[in-house]
Amino acid sequence: MLKILLLLLSCALAFSKPIVSVSIPPQAFFVEKIAKDSVEINILISPNSNEHNVEFKPMMIKNLEKSKIYFLADLELEKILENKFKNTLKNVKIVNINDGISLLENDETDEHDHDEHEHGKNDPHTWLDPVLVKIQAQNIYKALSQTFPQNKDFYAKNLDDFLKELDDLNSVIKTNLQDIKHREFIVYHPSWNYLAKRYNLIQIPVEIDGKEPKIQDLQKLIKIAKEKNIKVIFVQPGFSENSAKVLSKELNAKIVFIDHLAKDWDKELLKTIQALKMALE
Ligand SMILES: [Zn+2]
Repeated sequence: MLKILLLLLSCALAFSKPIVSVSIPPQAFFVEKIAKDSVEINILISPNSNEHNVEFKPMMIKNLEKSKIYFLADLELEKILENKFKNTLKNVKIVNINDGISLLENDETDEHDHDEHEHGKNDPHTWLDPVLVKIQAQNIYKALSQTFPQNKDFYAKNLDDFLKELDDLNSVIKTNLQDIKHREFIVYHPSWNYLAKRYNLIQIPVEIDGKEPKIQDLQKLIKIAKEKNIKVIFVQPGFSENSAKVLSKELNAKIVFIDHLAKDWDKELLKTIQALKMALE
């Protein structure tokens, strides 16, 4: 009996899949599209959290240390992680998913002290633009194929399918947004700049430099929203709703949740586009 158990155990160990780590759930969606079930994916930042201010779970760090690849997403937290675990991450191939993408700068707001540590200079939210995700998909394919060359053809075919899906998604979004009358939308955390640029929308953030806005900032925002007749305030799960509530009351506007960290990336993006369409009609 013991022998059989030991045999089963050794089989399980022999067949356990290699681990690949990512920072955020949408990256897991992208890696899965190409790797399918050839790897186990370890996600460091859970959905419904704030990707700029998060405590890493010890289990996830353990899995990160055992990973073959870690895909970065240009988040400030990754730099802290990389420094802290420099020695134990020596054997992990570290790949920036944004290689080949020029990042936008964070919208600088005048008289604020800029807290480089928390906020970073560049806007990392590239994963919300399906056209940029095509570049990310190719970066993922390259790293996976280098690390697991035996699966190269399988990954190439999956990449091809995924690129087609991204093209389709891009067309669907364009069609959905073609007849909207307004362009400006208010959102708590400014994570939609790449998407806004891609589809000719204008993101107006509530949060300033990663912090709650001050009273005078809110007053400015109320003035703009009244001028533009904005009736929807978008909020992301994991972020504060206080200012959105103040705005919604002042403007008699609806609060709508949109999730920029969902693992179900394509479905969630389409839901967001529907919500934007309704708000901007
Ligand atoms: Zn963010």
